[in-house]
Amino acid sequence: MANGSDFRGDYQEFNLDDAIRKIPDFPKPGILFYDITSILANPRAFKYCIDSMFKLYGDTEFDTAAAIESRGFVFAAPFCYERNIPLLLVRKKGKLPGRTISCAYELEYGTAVLEMHIEDIKPKARFLIIDDLIATGGTINATCEMIKRGGAVPVRAFSVIGLPSLKYQEKVTDVGIDTLIEYSGE
Ligand code: AMP
Repeated sequence: MANGSDFRGDYQEFNLDDAIRKIPDFPKPGILFYDITSILANPRAFKYCIDSMFKLYGDTEFDTAAAIESRGFVFAAPFCYERNIPLLLVRKKGKLPGRTISCAYELEYGTAVLEMHIEDIKPKARFLIIDDLIATGGTINATCEMIKRGGAVPVRAFSVIGLPSLKYQEKVTDVGIDTLIEYSGE
């Protein structure tokens, strides 16, 4: 059930759910993995996602986007290209070569550390955070934390998929979150 039917525009009949591959017990037993590579392999589905971002954020001013490794990169790149704003990569520990700011976070399945290049976070810059899926909200929260510590402002977060049963709405307090489709009960 896609939320925000106001931005569906030309896609009234478009069913994003059909375009998302679901893999049970990946990467470990008990996790239902929502695979967005099936969106990327479906040009109409990918176009729907990117067009929806422009409809959502047509009037919202962002100075910078922060995209979360690795599937968030794919949705952020066309958005930043068209909006002519900087794209900062949020990567797992050890992947970025420059001076970094880091934050530990919890995933639905494990823990890890995220990093950003500190010098690319400009003071007071208004950030849109972009990922493919939000589950517990730990990744978004860690990204907000790094942006704030860098002196900038997290404004909103976009995720293609939301899993509200994992209560990310209660845990993410720094930014409002926009999703294109939500799955309950996982
Ligand atoms: P979280 O920090 O719990 O909100 O987890 C979000 C991050 O983990 C995103 O970068 C997702 O790509 C990945 N992720 C977590 N759970 C799933 C899932 N069930 N299916 C696909 N990706 C997931």
